[in-house]
Amino acid sequence: MNKPLILVVEDDSAVRNLIATTLETHGYRFQTAPTGESAILEAVSHNPDVILLDLGLPDMDGIEIIHKIRSWSKTPIIVISARSEDTDKIDALDAGADDYLTKPFSVEELLARLRVTFRRLHDVGDSVQDAVYTNGDLKIDYAAGCAFMKEQELHLTPIEYKLLCLLAKNAGKVLTHTYITREIWGSAWDNDVASLRVFMATLRKKIEADPSNPTYIQTHIGVGYRMLKV
Ligand code: CA
Repeated sequence: MNKPLILVVEDDSAVRNLIATTLETHGYRFQTAPTGESAILEAVSHNPDVILLDLGLPDMDGIEIIHKIRSWSKTPIIVISARSEDTDKIDALDAGADDYLTKPFSVEELLARLRVTFRRLHDVGDSVQDAVYTNGDLKIDYAAGCAFMKEQELHLTPIEYKLLCLLAKNAGKVLTHTYITREIWGSAWDNDVASLRVFMATLRKKIEADPSNPTYIQTHIGVGYRMLKV
């Protein structure tokens, strides 16, 4: 298999060089783009496997770039946000980004995000048509509409089941509160986010060995949730 190609979109040359060096050391191929315009050109002409996208570029809004890329491509996008406010990340995830890193980030964090992304790409390629989802001791039989933990059927409410399936179908990807509530209830009111927390707590009690230290569903405080590959 060819080494994966990563497009690094970052106007700060120090950060760009750090990422480039890290990728090179770990056997990834990469291309760099310092502006939004050059990022779109590179994405069109080289069809990268993953795009690392700094949200603060001089010529274009990061969210606009995500919308543009998403109009023709499903390539995973990991956004790099300098601002600690959650709204940027949430907007980016809702626009179609897959994951995010907050500056300053460590080399380990960057590599971990890439591993999750490549694993997800691999799993999606493998199992897009699968009628049964398996992750550790968790099994979802989509056709039968039921879920199991260690071969024991879980007694889930319809909303808990829907929530579990939504996270499983997007395993590895951070889903925002807004996205989840829209998918589950068809709306996104503040009340729904509060309800979501309640349903998440009851779901976790049923699937996690230690609900206060979950291994299947990760919380991204202020942002959303992600199903992890166990
Ligand atoms: Ca920047």
